[in-house]
Amino acid sequence: QMMTPTTEQTWHLTLDSTDKAPTELTAGAVVVAIPAPQALMLLKPLAESGLSPDFLDTLHSVEFDPCLSVMAGYSVDCPVPTWKACTLSKDSDLAWIGLDSSKRPDAQIPIFVLQSTAEFAKRYLDAEDLNPAAEQLLSHAAKKLLIPWLETPDWFQVHRWRYAFPSRFLNQDYLDAGAALPLVCCGDWCGGNLIESAMNSGLAAAVEINSQLKKRSLPTEQFLSTL
Ligand SMILES: Cc1cc2nc3c(=O)[nH]c(=O)nc-3n(C[C@H](O)[C@H](O)[C@H](O)COP(=O)(O)OP(=O)(O)OC[C@H]3O[C@@H](n4cnc5c(N)ncnc54)[C@H](O)[C@@H]3O)c2cc1C
Repeated sequence: QMMTPTTEQTWHLTLDSTDKAPTELTAGAVVVAIPAPQALMLLKPLAESGLSPDFLDTLHSVEFDPCLSVMAGYSVDCPVPTWKACTLSKDSDLAWIGLDSSKRPDAQIPIFVLQSTAEFAKRYLDAEDLNPAAEQLLSHAAKKLLIPWLETPDWFQVHRWRYAFPSRFLNQDYLDAGAALPLVCCGDWCGGNLIESAMNSGLAAAVEINSQLKKRSLPTEQFLSTL
């Protein structure tokens, strides 16, 4: 929720806690691993404490495209297509559709996941009820893919991703605030290549924050090779 520097040379963090977790903590260093626009909201008040305008301007330069996802389940009798996923590169509303149930060995019913284009999602960014948008996408997919029953699932869920995919990103592995206390930002918006950049950026931020602390030796075990 909020970060402030203390006179003891630590960060004081106020947390939004719904259970018994602490609502406040102090930290010697902070890695902010959230989308840049959300990081900007969190860190902008620190301009008053001397956080560099260049750093805040760089955060401000990052932009994201939104996306709407629809998950839809169908009757066991529906004849599933032979394809597993389709990318619709020139469609105005639908960007991608995948037969999600094909990933599960014990799938009981056909389940599809639909991803909207950014343009479609922007039209519903602040809509209270996303169900009409989901129904529109399902109907569109049914017509586009010539599978009429796609329009009438037994159930569906819809989810809005306000910061889905970085559209304007930084060509660097992490963003150091250059503050008096260690503060580093990271995420897929550093590199812009989705999960690969998110992983790379997180690892680079960890090395940077360690170098600003006590330069402890890092584990020799390689994180990626343990996956
Ligand atoms: C629909 C969809 C499908 C995708 N499919 C693929 C794919 O197939 N392959 C691929 O490589 N990538 C895919 N991606 C992209 C991938 O999910 C992201 O690149 C990746 O998750 C980014 O990781 P991150 O750690 O930078 O940020 P995130 O995964 O966004 O994590 C940031 C977290 O911080 C939390 N947060 C935000 N603000 C605060 C705050 N103030 N306090 C505490 N927590 C906060 C958020 O809730 C979130 O959980 C997809 C993305 C979407 C939306």
